[in-house]
Amino acid sequence: MPSAGSSQPDIGFVTEPARQTPVREDVDVLVVGGGAAGLAAAVSAVRNGARVLLVERYGFLGGTLTNVTLGSICGMYTIDGDEIMQVAGGFVAELVERLKKAGGANGPLRWLETASMPYDAPTLRLVADEIIDECGIRVSFHAAAVGVMKDGSRVSGVIFEDRAGRWAARARTVIDCTGNGDIAAHAGAAFEYDPALLQAPTTMFRFAGVDTERASGITRAELHDRLERAVEAGLQLPRTAGGMFSPRPGVMHLNITRVSRDGAPPDLLDSDDLAWAEMEGRRQLALYEQAFRRFVPGFEDCYIADIGAEIGIRESRRVRGDYWLELNDVLNEARFDDAIACSAWPVEEHSAGRATRWVFLKPGTYYQLPFRIMLPRGIEGLLVAGRCASASHDAHASMRVAATCMAMGEAAGVAAAFASRERLALRDIDVAAVQARLLEQGAFLGNHISERTL
Ligand SMILES: Cc1cc2nc3c(=O)[nH]c(=O)nc-3n(C[C@H](O)[C@H](O)[C@H](O)COP(=O)(O)OP(=O)(O)OC[C@H]3O[C@@H](n4cnc5c(N)ncnc54)[C@H](O)[C@@H]3O)c2cc1C
Repeated sequence: MPSAGSSQPDIGFVTEPARQTPVREDVDVLVVGGGAAGLAAAVSAVRNGARVLLVERYGFLGGTLTNVTLGSICGMYTIDGDEIMQVAGGFVAELVERLKKAGGANGPLRWLETASMPYDAPTLRLVADEIIDECGIRVSFHAAAVGVMKDGSRVSGVIFEDRAGRWAARARTVIDCTGNGDIAAHAGAAFEYDPALLQAPTTMFRFAGVDTERASGITRAELHDRLERAVEAGLQLPRTAGGMFSPRPGVMHLNITRVSRDGAPPDLLDSDDLAWAEMEGRRQLALYEQAFRRFVPGFEDCYIADIGAEIGIRESRRVRGDYWLELNDVLNEARFDDAIACSAWPVEEHSAGRATRWVFLKPGTYYQLPFRIMLPRGIEGLLVAGRCASASHDAHASMRVAATCMAMGEAAGVAAAFASRERLALRDIDVAAVQARLLEQGAFLGNHISERTL
């Protein structure tokens, strides 16, 4: 796999002995990564008759939603005046319903020129387990994908490592939902990864001891002003424009840190840089605790109650697919005959500086995402769903949010199940049939697909 290069000097190579790796699994659909996209993909594939294995390197599901922890699920809505319209349904709608029943979601909530669904991360972990259990999906936890098996240009399986050693899983279709495109990279797919251009990562955390009634009245603009005052008073905050969501009385989730070195993001494929980034993110928390206590009403007695298990990576590899989603598509209501999802999320770019760049879509509009962004160029047997799918840096800044990743995952699950059932290559499946099935599952594919299909 191409590496980002280490800051350590090159001190030679070792030759590893050849070895035989046991094939532990042989399934129709192998989903690697149990985040937003992977969870949806596995559920969707199994509900369409496939034998599915889901492999995740942590001990729980949800990915960024639960291991980084977010404040809200974004990408479900477009707004027009007072109206909030849903542009993502299917699996994400089911998940939200279940979260609401479990007391772990309340919304939608309007903010800036959009709306999102605040949720509680621990509840999402529990709900994800319930869904997987109900669907009878086999899951391997604490296993990391470290390589692929290939048959010519076709990916035929994945090599994993867990505490017991190495093992392999064969599959008719592999769905790469690792967020970072690990499987695609192992398979030799082309991808874009430019450390100079990446969005900056963020360490997420929660304050407890907050007077949430007072704090919830603070707008994003007021928060920005208050934190700018903290900067004037000498607290060197890297970011002053951020979001806060209260999942429970007394608790506030903060998306406010920004990790960069001399204005440049760390190289997120390099473990040394990642180690620095993780510790730098945590170092910033003490600074924000002081700033909030002194300058933001309702936070006078706040304290850090929880920190995400890892730093939040917004962007890393974007795998080159049969279609490359561009900014023009996002901002100009792109329509595709092979649409498998829609999004209305703005371009939200976190780069150097204390502010965030937002470019909103026209009110009430959305763009479609085509099936082809999940097909890595020149590779068979592999779909890439979620934030590592095929998009330019700017387009990715919109399509990377959780609801859109779930919609992609759901579509990938249906497509993989169909390919397996019909014994067809992914590029030969009937995309109209996939769309019809997605509509039956409650997905929103945009008006022209619904009218054509129903
Ligand atoms: C700081 C931050 C704030 C954000 N805020 C929001 C927000 O408020 N709302 C919103 O909707 N979106 C937000 N996003 C974006 C969004 O959360 C993610 O882009 C989206 O959830 C990605 O989903 P995914 O399934 O593609 O990948 P991930 O959520 O990254 O899931 C990938 C999964 O694969 C597993 N994995 C990775 N590599 C391997 C491997 N080699 N072997 C086995 N398993 C592996 C990981 O452990 C993980 O569970 C934010 C992102 C960040 C970083």
